[in-house]
Amino acid sequence: MDTKDTIVYEAHGNLYLNITNRCTSDCVFCIKRYSDGVYGFNLRLSKEPAVSTIIDELSGIELSKYREAVFTGLGEPLVRLDEVLEITQWLTSQGMRTRLDTIGHAKLIYPGRNVAKELADAGMKIVSISLNAHDEETYNQLCAPKHRNSYQKMLEFARDVSKAGMELRFTVVNLPKVDIDKCASIAKEYCADFKVRGYGGPI
Ligand code: SF4
Repeated sequence: MDTKDTIVYEAHGNLYLNITNRCTSDCVFCIKRYSDGVYGFNLRLSKEPAVSTIIDELSGIELSKYREAVFTGLGEPLVRLDEVLEITQWLTSQGMRTRLDTIGHAKLIYPGRNVAKELADAGMKIVSISLNAHDEETYNQLCAPKHRNSYQKMLEFARDVSKAGMELRFTVVNLPKVDIDKCASIAKEYCADFKVRGYGGPI
């Protein structure tokens, strides 16, 4: 039986990268709570893959077949910022468009760094931030962020993303507590694309 960790997987014409299971939140709707992964891929990692392992795996794939490479998976990619930057640089050198899906706590994890600028300089094209709620109280209830002031800092990071010249997207999960219209207004205010995701877990 193949027990190799799933680091790279494909769906919807994209390549997805699963580089960590760690996260700065504990969302009530997290896939980790009710499944081992998505699209039939087990995304639980026995250990975090080294950059060389990830690039080795990507090197064996015909990248031009895919629309974009997306840092996502069963965790928050930015807990491994330096690895994200290195892999993004490599993907960009191969002509691959790269997107990051993030909970957006970069300013709290790396207070001394301009993470958005570093991402843009590495070649990142799109940053999709989990907005998740229309206000801080709802956000804290749904996401249980590990850092204080996460909602505000996530919104500040979103501004940084636009300032650094990357495309910005906000996503929310369609849950009864979430005011989707208010979230859409926030996205409009930030000139961000807006995506509502369905919830596939237990009620
Ligand atoms: S940010 Fe994503 S990975 Fe982290 S707990 Fe929330 S849903 Fe799960």
